[in-house]
Parts: sequence; structure tokens; C-alpha cells
Amino acid sequence: MKSIAVIPAERDVKLIEGEEPKLSSPSDVKLRMLEVGICGTDREICSFQYGTPPKGFDYLVIGHESLGEVAAVGPAVAGLKPGDLVVTMVRRPCLHEECVSCVSGRADFCYTGDFTERGIKGAHGFMADIVVDDERNMNLVPASLRDTAVLVEPLTIAEKALTQIWSMQGRLPWACPHSAAHGLGHCHRAVVLGAGPVGLLGAMALVRQGFDTYVYSRETAPNPKAAIAESIGAKYVSAETASVDQLAATVGNIDVVYEASGASRLSFEVIQRLGVNGIFVFTGVPGRKAPVSIDTDLVMRNVVLKNQAVFGSVNASRENFQDAIRDLVAFNELWPASVQALITGRYPLAAYHDLLLGRPTGIKNVLAFA
Ligand SMILES: [Zn+2]
Ligand SMILES: [Zn+2]
Repeated sequence: MKSIAVIPAERDVKLIEGEEPKLSSPSDVKLRMLEVGICGTDREICSFQYGTPPKGFDYLVIGHESLGEVAAVGPAVAGLKPGDLVVTMVRRPCLHEECVSCVSGRADFCYTGDFTERGIKGAHGFMADIVVDDERNMNLVPASLRDTAVLVEPLTIAEKALTQIWSMQGRLPWACPHSAAHGLGHCHRAVVLGAGPVGLLGAMALVRQGFDTYVYSRETAPNPKAAIAESIGAKYVSAETASVDQLAATVGNIDVVYEASGASRLSFEVIQRLGVNGIFVFTGVPGRKAPVSIDTDLVMRNVVLKNQAVFGSVNASRENFQDAIRDLVAFNELWPASVQALITGRYPLAAYHDLLLGRPTGIKNVLAFA
């Protein structure tokens, strides 16, 4: 069995031949991997910024954005059968009894930090011909998503953010009177920071919820990312041609900011323009750069005087995966070409080196297993 492994001690990334994993419990499911998406996290692991091999291994098989096909099931598996398409979740709970999040099935809110994540931290990932996991970590995907379900995992970031936005904004009268027919975001304005896959999938989720959605990103238009944003009814604004002040003047009251850029300086510039009763969600993890100065008095005044909420969000629950699958079906009905256009390349496993270590290109690149 082939897989892509990072060996931190040797600072090496290579294609290795290993033994196929076997069904080891009655509820295990064996998957033949179909596609694995490559993202910034994978690239960072491949530059040895983080990434932890499982106990007893000197290497970590990477990959966490996956689509597999069920090849075999254990005797206790009830909900999956050979041939089914499956997206497997990434994080596994810590084993501390006092972690109420993990104990309640919400490892995405783990308190201890001792969770594991397949392909990232303490557990092998999905860039492998064959993957075995427990049925409870898998999500059945309709056959119609065969070509796009690899986007489910990156979409879960927006789904978790939205779920939290609804609950936090529920503290105030927020929904407009006609939102029932138009989605919970109707008569609200959202700004997405960044036009990578997480940003564009987030924009799709926001547009579908009825938000008047703006995507603010570096590159000047026209470009393929701007084209996708516009094709779904969002407005693309380039940071090269419009300052944050100009963006804010165009949008009006910014009700939601969905940060998907990992750019902290830009984020704290935009936070200063967040509107009355606005909410700002961070999803990016910036690299550590030199400190920058921000007007903390202004930010704090606004947060208080405008009743603002600012929060960060990582990982996703099973419910968020289910929401992502449902939304992806809807996106494919609304904007089939735009969803397809997010996947800018499919490559064989052997092309891993340039994809993981070369210059980033395109939007979402995918390893497709033969
Ligand atoms: Zn990812
Ligand atoms: Zn925990």
C-alpha cells in the first residue's frame, strides 16, 4: 500500500510502501481512498512547522480532506456497505474523563489539547490507498457528490462558524422579518476575507443563507477566484484596488466577517470597520511574524459600544459534517460549474512532491487515486 509520509526527524517527505491496515474491531470500515485534498495545513506539516507521528512511528501519513469508497465492513457496521461513498472526520477525542467536550462527542471543543487528528497530530491521515476507521467517524455521502465531496471537510469550517453565528446572534433581535423565506442571513451583509477554498466555500454558504456577500482578497480582478465569487452572486473586492475603508464604504454596516485568510494585520484592520451588532469569526492560523501596531482603543470602544462579538473556530462536529454534505448538494444544484471550478487540479499520488513542497498554485488541488 502506498502512502505519503512526513518524517520529521529526517526532515523528509516521501512516498512509502507500507502494510495495508486491517479491520480490527467489529465496527471498523475499510475504505479505498478516492481523493484527498491538499491544503495549507498539509504544506505546513511538510515544512515541519507541526505534525506529530503516531506513538511508535517515526513518520506521519498526512492528508485530512478525503473521500473514500467503502471496500469492506466489520460485522457490527450497520449504516455503511461496500460501494458507499464516505467522508471521514479528522479529530478524535482525548481520553481524559474530565474533558466534558470529548466525553459529550464534541472533540472539536476539546479542553485538554490531547486530542488526535488524522493526518495532523498523533494519527495517520488519508493520503494512502487504504484507510480503516470506526464507522462512527464516517459520514455517508450521496453518489451525486463523487466529484466534489473532497470539499466537504474544508466546508465544515464555515458550517461550524455559521452554527455559532446563529447561536451568538440569537442573543439579540437580529433576524429580519422576512428571513424565513430567504435564509437566516437575509438583509445582512457578510465580508469574507480571503478567496482560497475555505473563503470561497464560506462565501457559498453565506450566499445560500441569504447574506449580501463580499469577498475581499488580494489579487486584482479578473481572476479565477473573483470569477467564482461573482458566479455565485457574491461581490469580489480586491485589496489591491480598494482599501479597507473603501471596502467598508461599499458594504455599509458589516454584520458578519468570515476570516479565511490567516492574515492577522488585515483582519485587525477590518475588525475596526465591523458594524453595529456585528460578529467576526477567525478561522485562519497565521504564521508568527513581527508585531504590528493596531489602534486598540478604537477596537475596544467598538466592541463595547457596538455590541460586537469576536470569536475563533477550529475543527468540526459530526453535525457540521452533515450540514456540509447537505450544503454541498445544494451548491451543486445552484452553481455546478462554480463548485467544480474550486478543484483546479487532480493529480496522481506520484505528483505529491511539487504539490506539497512547490509553490502553491490554483485553488484546491487534489490527489486522485487510480
Ligand atoms: Zn485542510
Ligand atoms: Zn478532550
